[in-house]
Amino acid sequence: MKNVVILGSTGSIGKSTLDVIRNLKHKYKVVALSANSQWELLSKQVNEFKPESVSIADERCVDLLRNSLSGNSVQILTGENSVREMVSKENVDIVLSAIVGGAGLPAAIEVIKSRKTLALANKEALVMAGGLIMPMAKENGVNIIPVDSEHSAVLQALRAGRREEVKKIIITASGGPFRNHPKEKLSEVTKEEALNHPTWNMGKKITIDSATLMNKALEVIEAKWLFDLDATQIEVVIHPESIIHSLVEFCDGSVIAQMGLPDMKVPIQFALTYPDRENGNAKLLDLATLGTLNFQKPDMDKFPALRLGYEVVEKGGTMGATFNAANEVAVQAFLDNKIKFTDITKAVEHVMKEHNFIKDPTLQDIMDADEYARKETKICLS
Ligand code: MG
Repeated sequence: MKNVVILGSTGSIGKSTLDVIRNLKHKYKVVALSANSQWELLSKQVNEFKPESVSIADERCVDLLRNSLSGNSVQILTGENSVREMVSKENVDIVLSAIVGGAGLPAAIEVIKSRKTLALANKEALVMAGGLIMPMAKENGVNIIPVDSEHSAVLQALRAGRREEVKKIIITASGGPFRNHPKEKLSEVTKEEALNHPTWNMGKKITIDSATLMNKALEVIEAKWLFDLDATQIEVVIHPESIIHSLVEFCDGSVIAQMGLPDMKVPIQFALTYPDRENGNAKLLDLATLGTLNFQKPDMDKFPALRLGYEVVEKGGTMGATFNAANEVAVQAFLDNKIKFTDITKAVEHVMKEHNFIKDPTLQDIMDADEYARKETKICLS
């Protein structure tokens, strides 16, 4: 039996992880769950999966959760140290972190310090502090297994050769809902249009990130840290059907792709079972029915976010934290109907230019850059 902690269990990835574990319950047990504020769903999950402990970040929800679980012996935690308390327990094997945004960074660090396998869906932690997290993971003997479908695909394709035989990776992008939208009309698109993703059904933040291509920019940065690549070794190709999840090109010209219908349960399950595989219950790919797969070069002029992502990969340092924090604030402003769609990327670019860049930052420098970028973005958007 492997014991799993799920951080962010009420979000889209968290719920899919529980689906995967429901199917693998002979081998995987949920020992702890955490959520931000959705106490009703969390309470249902506790009743079904019977974890030993559960935590809720929003203190206003603690009593509601406690009352809904009266008679249940589960330990209810809240406050700053609750994640540490849950992940550091001796019986924990794997922690799947599906926290959204920069809030996931402290949790990722706790998991690494506790020397547990980290299945990471929270790409923002790597974007902000990959330069600190990766060496820390190595020192502690911790495996970081990506849950992001593209990075899971790369991890799987990399197994076809030796590391020194890898020439580059090719990350696929659906292109989002505005792939064929005229550039000059992008400033007029609505929140509803941006939230209508053509192939993936995901949480709000990542869906807006997919529409701006910020998500792909974040993924290019994530790939740099996870697989130790430079900007010239990471290519992005638009692939509207989202069937090929990413590819690896080897030195002899062979290109290995990982494919499947777009379903997050597949990369989630692989992160839990890595390096092995288990029977899954995802719908199977039927290539003849699909017929055609399409590919295009990304338009960095229309979607400048991707260009900014490459700038972050080249500069490193505090640029990732700045980029990520500015984007989080701008996405929220767009979701609150306060700014135009195209203002998101403009604000991020402005804040990246203004910030006081540090090449070899400490964790404190990164947190400071994050705080500065949040403030500066709010000012520039108000
Ligand atoms: Mg992805």
